[in-house]
Amino acid sequence: MSKNSRRVAVLGASGSIGRSALEVVAGSDSRFEAVMLSVHRSTDWLVEQICQMTVRGVSERLKDGRGKPQNSFLPETIIITDPSADRTPLENLPPGIEILFGQDALCDYVRRDDVDIVLSAIVGSAGLRSTWAALEAGKTVALANKESLVMGGSLVTDLARKNGGRVIPVDSEHSAIFQCLRETGWEPNGNDGDGELHRTVERIILTASGGPFRTWPADYLANVTVTDALTHPTWSMGKKISVDSATLMNKALEIIEARWLFNMPASKIGVVIHPQSVIHSLVEFVDGAIIAQMSPPDMRLPIQWALTYPERYEGNATRMDWAKPLTLEFFPPDMERFPALSLGLEVAAVGGTAGAVVNAVNEVAVDAFLRRRLPFRHITTLCQQILKHHDYEMSPTIERLFEIDWWAREEASRWISQ
Ligand code: NAD
Ligand code: MG
Repeated sequence: MSKNSRRVAVLGASGSIGRSALEVVAGSDSRFEAVMLSVHRSTDWLVEQICQMTVRGVSERLKDGRGKPQNSFLPETIIITDPSADRTPLENLPPGIEILFGQDALCDYVRRDDVDIVLSAIVGSAGLRSTWAALEAGKTVALANKESLVMGGSLVTDLARKNGGRVIPVDSEHSAIFQCLRETGWEPNGNDGDGELHRTVERIILTASGGPFRTWPADYLANVTVTDALTHPTWSMGKKISVDSATLMNKALEIIEARWLFNMPASKIGVVIHPQSVIHSLVEFVDGAIIAQMSPPDMRLPIQWALTYPERYEGNATRMDWAKPLTLEFFPPDMERFPALSLGLEVAAVGGTAGAVVNAVNEVAVDAFLRRRLPFRHITTLCQQILKHHDYEMSPTIERLFEIDWWAREEASRWISQ
C-alpha cells in the first residue's frame, strides 16, 4: 500500500453499503486501505471475502510485476460484533489478522490513532455507539447509518464540532445536498460558511423514488406482502431500508437526518417524488436558482465522495449513458397515502427524544413486518401512536436517548403482541 493511502475502518462490511464500499476501495488505486472490517454475524461471508481478496491481491501483484505477492488487500483487523456468531469459518482465515469480538471492541477500535476514516454502515440504532465513539475521538465519519443522526440529533453534530471530527454524509440525498451546498461554504464539521447557508438557502429538497407502491391503488396497501415491499424499483439495498423506502419512512428519517446534519429548520426541508432516482436532491436558493446533483443510482459515488472529499477522482461508479434518451419526472408527494412524511417533518421540528422514539418503534415494527407479525400499514401507525404516548424531553443526554430507545422498543413489542 502507498504510504499516503487513507486507513478506513468499514463498520457493517457485509451489508449493502459495506460491500459497495469495498468495491470503492478496490477501485481507488491505493488511495484507501480497508484496514478493519466489522460484521455482526456473517463470519462465513467475511472469511470468503478475505480469501477472495488474498487471491486478488496476489494476482494483481503478479500482473503488475511489482515484486513478491503480498496480502496487501487484506484487513489488519476484523471485528465480529455479535460474540455468539459462528466462529468455525474463522479457522480458514489467512494468518496474521487480528480478530476481535463485541460492540465494545468496535468502539475501542474506531478510537485508535491509526484510523483515518470510519465508514459507519451498520444498520439501525446499533450504529450510534460506534459513530459516537469515533466522533469522541475526533475522527472523520463517513455516515451511512442515518439512524445515528435521527436518534442523536444535535448531540452528534455538536460532538463532532467540539472534538474536531466531521460527519460526511453517505446517504445519496445528503451527499447530493452537500455537493450542491458547497458554494455556501458549508463544511462537514458544522461550519455553515459564516451564516451564508441560512442566508442564501431557501430550502433543501430531498428526492424520493416513491418506492414500490407509488402507483398502487391506496386500498391495495392493506395487502402488501414482504416480497412486494422488498422489491425496490431503482435501488438494491438491505432489507430494513428497503421496507423503509416502501413506507417512505426512509424519507422521514432522511428529513430528520438533514435537519441535524445541515442545521436546517424542518420548515426549510421539502420532498419531491422523482421515480428515476437520477437527481439525488436539490437546493433552492433565495433568488429562485436551484442546484441539483445527478448521477445514475449507484451508492459507490456518494461513498467515494465521502472518502475523498474534498478531492474527486475517476473511481468505478456507473456513468450516465448520454446516448440513451432520458426523461426525468417530478411529482408532489402524496402525504395521505404515506403518513410517514408528515411524521418525519413533525419529528424534525420538535427534536429532543422524538427521533429516538420513532426510530426505535420503526425498527421493531419493520422487523415484525418482515416476520409477518405486523401488517405493512401498521408500521407507520405504530410509530405515530407511541410517539404520541411518550413523555417528550427537549434536551436528553446520549445515555438518556439509549434508555428511551429501549423503552420505545419494549412499548412497540408490547403493542405488537397484543
Ligand atoms: P444491511 O442490512 O445490508 O447491512 C447491515 C450491516 O450492519 C451488516 O454488515 C451487518 O452485519 C451489520 N449489523 C447488523 N446488525 C448489527 C448490530 N446489531 N451491530 C453491529 N453490526 C450490525 O444494511 P445497508 O442497506 O447496508 O444499510 C446500512 C446503513 O446505511 C443503514 O443505516 C441504511 O439506512 C444506510 N443506507 C443504506 C443505503 C443502501 O443503499 N443500502 C443507502 C443509504 C443509506
Ligand atoms: Mg437515501
